Amino acid sequence: MKNTDFDLVIIGGGPAGLTAGLYAARARMNAVMIEKVVPGGQVLTTDWIENYPGFPEGLSGGDLVVKLTEQVKRFNLNIENGNVVSLDFSGDIKKIELSDRTVTTKAVIIATGASPRKLGVPGEERFIGKGVSFCGTCDAPFFKDRVVAAVGGGDTAVQESLYLTKFAKKVYLIHRRDELRATKILQERAFANDKIEFVWDSVITDIEGGLMSVEKVAVKNVKTDETKKLDVDGCFVWVGINPNTAFVKGAVKVDESGFIITDASMETSVQGVFAIGDVRNTPLRQIVTAAGDGAIASFSAEHYIENIG
Ligand code: NAP
Repeated sequence: MKNTDFDLVIIGGGPAGLTAGLYAARARMNAVMIEKVVPGGQVLTTDWIENYPGFPEGLSGGDLVVKLTEQVKRFNLNIENGNVVSLDFSGDIKKIELSDRTVTTKAVIIATGASPRKLGVPGEERFIGKGVSFCGTCDAPFFKDRVVAAVGGGDTAVQESLYLTKFAKKVYLIHRRDELRATKILQERAFANDKIEFVWDSVITDIEGGLMSVEKVAVKNVKTDETKKLDVDGCFVWVGINPNTAFVKGAVKVDESGFIITDASMETSVQGVFAIGDVRNTPLRQIVTAAGDGAIASFSAEHYIENIG
């Protein structure tokens, strides 16, 4: 094969990408990790992690990222800033177009994660940064002794609502069904927390307020069609995630929700291209599984590169 800039390009620096980078650096591969701003990804918005093995006391998302970054730097992983805009996998040499340059490589690992999904109701866009938020760790302290709405029934909504109760005097947790999807231990804590009031079988239909802040959310009961307005100072939206794949544009196969399809070696529909972590079609999205994906993908990429010579 002709010369390429790199043997392996890892796109994205969350726990999945950082772990892939750790294994690539230790395998002494000619690898680079390209990250938009700073390594970390969504885990930076997680206030406390207590299910990552080896940390019995738990640790903050920020601390885990610091430790992971220190670890990859110890093995001299090459990290560059860049914004990937498109991919060209038509030939043996893979081309990655960044906003300011093009790099060529033999193998690619896509680890660009996911972003919070929006509700798509009136008022949501208008009040982003003025009471509507997707990040408890970032914004919960602004709601000291205030009343807030939180939407969703998954791990994020329940874990982050618990975090919100450290600041807010009341959290309405609004969920479209009468049963939570979140892990049982989180459910137990939420049910035992006096500051959380559940609003079951309900969806937010409108977010209202003045010039600078949220004042009310309109809530509809999906079983009875009854509507009511809740007086709140903020609204946190935690209704799932969308994969960060805008730049992929058909370069590899994705599922009906846009998550990249891989096999057990993390390889996508294109040989030598791998996908890991939250951007991948996977039954479990955890930091530990993202890290596991990263180790497997790096190992697979190393073997792919050896085989193509
Ligand atoms: P999720 O598991 O997909 O849950 C999304 C929640 O939002 C569901 O309860 C869903 O309701 C609800 N929902 C979806 N669309 C909605 C809409 N348009 N209006 C109202 N409600 C809507 O998403 P997530 O909680 O963000 O978690 C993402 C992934 O990260 C998951 O795999 C999760 O396990 C993982 N995660 C893990 C932890 C942890 O281990 N501590 C923490 C955070 C995230 P239904 O239940 O009715 O579908």
